[in-house]
Amino acid sequence: MKIENLVRKNIAEIVPYSASRDECTLRSKILLDANENPYDSGFNRYPDIYSTRLKRVFSGIIDVSPRNLFAGNGSDEVIDLLIRVFCEPGRDSIICLTPSYGMYKTSAIINGVKCLEIPLNDDFSLNPGRVLGSVSETTKIIFLCSPNNPTGNNLECQDVKQIIKDFNGIVVVDEAYIDFSSERGFASDVEEFENLVVLRTLSKAWGMAGIRVGFAVASEVIIKLLNKIKFPYNVNILSQDKAVELLTRGNLKQVEAIILERERLLSVLATLPDIYQVYPSQANFLLVKFRDNRKVYSNLLEKGIVVRDLSLLKGCEDTLRISIGTKSDNDLLIDLLQGCNDYMPVNFIEKVRSTKETMISLRIDPKGRTENEITSGIPFIDHMLEQIPVHAGFSMRLIAEGDLQNGPHHTIEDIAIVLGDSLYEFLSSEKSNNRYGFALPMDDSGANVMIDFGRRAFLRWDVAFPVPFIEGIESDMFRHFFDTLSKAMKASIHIQASGLNGHHIIESVFKAFAKSLAMVLNDTSDTLKLKSSKGVL
Ligand code: PMP
Repeated sequence: MKIENLVRKNIAEIVPYSASRDECTLRSKILLDANENPYDSGFNRYPDIYSTRLKRVFSGIIDVSPRNLFAGNGSDEVIDLLIRVFCEPGRDSIICLTPSYGMYKTSAIINGVKCLEIPLNDDFSLNPGRVLGSVSETTKIIFLCSPNNPTGNNLECQDVKQIIKDFNGIVVVDEAYIDFSSERGFASDVEEFENLVVLRTLSKAWGMAGIRVGFAVASEVIIKLLNKIKFPYNVNILSQDKAVELLTRGNLKQVEAIILERERLLSVLATLPDIYQVYPSQANFLLVKFRDNRKVYSNLLEKGIVVRDLSLLKGCEDTLRISIGTKSDNDLLIDLLQGCNDYMPVNFIEKVRSTKETMISLRIDPKGRTENEITSGIPFIDHMLEQIPVHAGFSMRLIAEGDLQNGPHHTIEDIAIVLGDSLYEFLSSEKSNNRYGFALPMDDSGANVMIDFGRRAFLRWDVAFPVPFIEGIESDMFRHFFDTLSKAMKASIHIQASGLNGHHIIESVFKAFAKSLAMVLNDTSDTLKLKSSKGVL
């Protein structure tokens, strides 16, 4: 089979767009070729047409040559481009499986291409004979998805291989969820099979759905064809840069946590009486068959939990597809499915901050119904931060990943910024604008913390540590933490503490700070009135 013979005639004849600047090999260039604004803003130039650096980094991760990679604006773009390269509107067709991902059919229809849907077996396995038996002379592409969305199972390797070998057209294996699977996938087989295209995305395991990056892994012939018809600048500079940065950071810990949670959720849900079946999954979601899935769907929706109702998808009647959340998300879901109906809608305060040095995500559950989850990579800081939700009476999930190889400074400082911003929003929503204070003894040590939540930042730090380092952290870092926090919280914070033991001193500070916050939150006085003789704060 010659790939070129499968290509639409008009596409075969196109001369691809090329940028004049690529013809200049000198290192420094004066760019007067693309009508850009010459003043440097970081973004005034068009992005690299071929996402070269991004492909190089991703190629190292999945161990294929960059020559076998195409970068798209999400893998959805790649699906559309493949149909446009190979399928003549009004004449050609594709085959996809059902139930499976809906975009193959949608893209085909948008492009005026017919789509034949072949049912999976009852256990959602692939029947290669049935697929190959449905091929006609207009069939140009077969789309397979493994692990399959929404059923979660891997397609059997030898069944997929049989289709790749026996079909005289393009076979696309969509591996959007492969990082959660025990299979290694087909990316390394594209050199051997010229008609194979593997789809990968950064939207799932890599946590970058918002920046829209997906890849095709394929023979060089196919990569050239995709490059030929894509919009020249399909992946923007911000996405290329951010993807490189986050790919370099790795995702193993999060993927491991999601897989563990998937297995825990599966075993809990399998015991619930209103659930008929939970299908095993190799992805980051579970397909669950309910006695009355519509009722469960709307109950969850009322409480602010959104899952996917698949009632209308053939083969998935009575099911919901549930993405795996964090441990506390999943706990909340389990409680609701177990019939704890006294929940008010969830109303979290959520903040994310990502810089070259750290990535911090923080969620406060004002009602304290979710479990605390604090991981900063610095165990002693986790221990200190934990005091805040525990003693202030809310719950908090904080996940921080920082450049700890440069020391703990950036991570601790950025946590203070995000925590301060969140507390500001939280306390403002409680209409607090008062003055509070708490004194707390702890063994040999004691702390006094006073907070004036009056929208003016100030830190008074009167803490004498007997040693320069507390559990490996420079003692001044704690002053810096509260100073940064007071600025982000727009609050005056006065802290006095003393004692014999550094660990006790700082722990008493965190506890007393949390107790003062609890006073803010439990303030039953008429807080809507300003407590200021000025009448304004
Ligand atoms: N393939 C599958 C199987 C998917 O489930 C999805 C998204 N839900 C995609 C592709 C699209 O991914 P992207 O965000 O890269 O466009």
